Amino acid sequence: MKFGLRHYLRSYFAPQAAVLMYHRVAEVKSDIWDITVSPENFEYQLQILQQSGNVISLSELTGNASKNRLKSGNIALTFDDGYADNYHFAKPLLEKYKLPATFFITTSNIGKKTEFWWDELENLILFTEHLPTFFSMNINGEDLNFELLQEAELTPEQQQINRNWKACEETPPNMRCAMYLKLWQTLRPLPQKKQQQELQKLRDWAGKAISPRSGYESMTENQLRDLSRNPLFEIGAHTVSHAALGFHDITFQEKEIRENRNLLRDITNQPVDLLSYPYGHFNTQTLQAANQTKFKAAFTTREEFVKNQTEPLQMGRFQIKDLPPEKFSAQFNLVQRWC
Ligand SMILES: [Zn+2]
Repeated sequence: MKFGLRHYLRSYFAPQAAVLMYHRVAEVKSDIWDITVSPENFEYQLQILQQSGNVISLSELTGNASKNRLKSGNIALTFDDGYADNYHFAKPLLEKYKLPATFFITTSNIGKKTEFWWDELENLILFTEHLPTFFSMNINGEDLNFELLQEAELTPEQQQINRNWKACEETPPNMRCAMYLKLWQTLRPLPQKKQQQELQKLRDWAGKAISPRSGYESMTENQLRDLSRNPLFEIGAHTVSHAALGFHDITFQEKEIRENRNLLRDITNQPVDLLSYPYGHFNTQTLQAANQTKFKAAFTTREEFVKNQTEPLQMGRFQIKDLPPEKFSAQFNLVQRWC
């Protein structure tokens, strides 16, 4: 019998490792995608991770998996997007605790004050004080209509509701949140130029010019170079424009991946062999593109452990939230128990 007891036991006790996924380390007023950890909680988390003695670099972890040499309980840390707060807050703390990490960088905002489109959209729809009462617009071929009515004026109570909303796990509590989510879903599949054209229509509707908030910018070239100089850290690819790859044809996908990697190599003068898919979005052509561009491993956002011989271009990760020490400890112990 092919799947007998021996097979079951072998797979049950097979060593597993976990890749942890961070995005931002900062103090923010709202965090609707639950991707920001405060510097204080981040330091507590690093203390717990350091005490485990199990953190290794992502290259080592993926190398071990490909050679059937994975050790149970191994952990690797990753950061997506390239926010400047990674440089200001995560880097010094990782250095303090001597923990290795990989930073997956989207390059289109490097050195600019520009916000990522989803941050600007959040600020525009959820936190603009006065918006028009009605919204009726064709966005990427779809007629969208929203009646904000009394929500057009942002009250302190409403602002609090919008700040506390977790778009990733809760249904929208009001019309502004519903509108944000629908626009996010409509804009996400688009190429960057089109995204910006549609965003301009929304700015005009809201009567707001582009005014990037400080704290939402990406790293500069110099910061990225400085980060990459520390042997603890590794730079990985995350596309030029943070494209949701699976929505695009293979030529577009390959261009996004290749140009991003080339620029990262130029800036850091180091190899860039690891990739993470923006939004964890990919399809079979993405795997083909990652294969053709010769990445050693690529990461999704699926909460899965890495095992020996895990498909290297579809490795899972566990998103880490802004948890205080006791809650993080409980979650971490759970992950370690399964490793
Ligand atoms: Zn990302």
